[in-house]
Amino acid sequence: MKTALVCGAGGFIGSHLVKRLKAEGFEVTGIDLKYPEFGTTAADEFVIGDLRSQSVCSEIMDRPYDEVYQLAADMGGAGFVFTGEHDAEIMHNSAIINLNIADLAAKTGVKKLFYSSSACIYPAYNQLDPDNPKCNEDSAYPAAPDSDYGWEKLFSERMYMAYSRNLNLDVRIARFHNIFGPEGTWTGGREKSPAAFCRKVAQTPDNGTIEMWGDGNQTRSFLYIDECLEGVRRLMNSSFMGPLNIGSEEMVSINQLCQMIAEIAGKTINVQHIDGPLGVRGRNSDNNLMFEKLNWKPTQPLETGLRHTYKWICQQVADTNNNLISQSAKNKNSQNTHA
Ligand code: NAD
Repeated sequence: MKTALVCGAGGFIGSHLVKRLKAEGFEVTGIDLKYPEFGTTAADEFVIGDLRSQSVCSEIMDRPYDEVYQLAADMGGAGFVFTGEHDAEIMHNSAIINLNIADLAAKTGVKKLFYSSSACIYPAYNQLDPDNPKCNEDSAYPAAPDSDYGWEKLFSERMYMAYSRNLNLDVRIARFHNIFGPEGTWTGGREKSPAAFCRKVAQTPDNGTIEMWGDGNQTRSFLYIDECLEGVRRLMNSSFMGPLNIGSEEMVSINQLCQMIAEIAGKTINVQHIDGPLGVRGRNSDNNLMFEKLNWKPTQPLETGLRHTYKWICQQVADTNNNLISQSAKNKNSQNTHA
């Protein structure tokens, strides 16, 4: 049986990846600061541990795994990454995790290592026009990411490639473009735009108003989690090191994204545009290299993934409301008892 270690197995993509690897017959070890928030892990072994610590990394990497998936990172959506308030922790925490993992993977003879980089590495100067962003893999240099999150990803890409050149570590590097789906962060400040708008629409009555950062004309593409995992597994099974975009080419404006979610919900939703952290003006995955190297690219329409995600977030909103109601009933009862 092949063995896999998933770093960041308590996170959104990591917890789904564990399920996928189990379904493929891997023996899976997971590690994270936390268990998955929205369900139990499918891992055979799950360790709560801080990968910034060298000794924690040494303990978990005590064997030559067939495959290591390095997804652990201090990250979130625009509200976390683009405000500038978390730059030092993002750079320090994620870089130190990657430094630890790369070194131990080479020393312990890991057979293949996957690293999740990001579309945020692409230069800001190629993403000024919302209708024509340039994000093919070769356009990464001269480097000018618009966030320190992106700079850390670029540093770590280069480090893994250096380990490949100098220490024969067999690596695969993907640049994810806005992955979304059920069981992802949907509230609390680290959520990304599809989850944030699903939540806002779910919480707003028909004909109500929600807030949106910016004018909503900024463009993005979003990839559903199942297709992301398909891309990851195909890249791992290929002989191509990357970096390779794993994203969708169905570019929409944020206004369109919001409108699609409102239609799925069957509601008329008004939008109030307010100031907020935005990121680049336009971004879209360029999947030409993916098709060339993997003979595959994602095909599922954005709307299909949004339907699954909206349904799941609606349920989360309803469960949270029910919990609040039963908590307040309990509080009232206990006040009456003490009266
Ligand atoms: P996530 O935040 O849900 O998962 C990351 C996990 O890493 C979290 O569970 C977190 O607890 C864990 N982690 C952070 N610091 C740790 C530490 N010191 N020790 C152990 N675990 C730690 O994020 P995600 O959306 O699942 O993203 C997974 C990876 O993909 C990340 O590297 C992210 O940068 C990258 N990525 C994601 C997207 C996306 O759209 N979701 C886009 C581009 C890149």
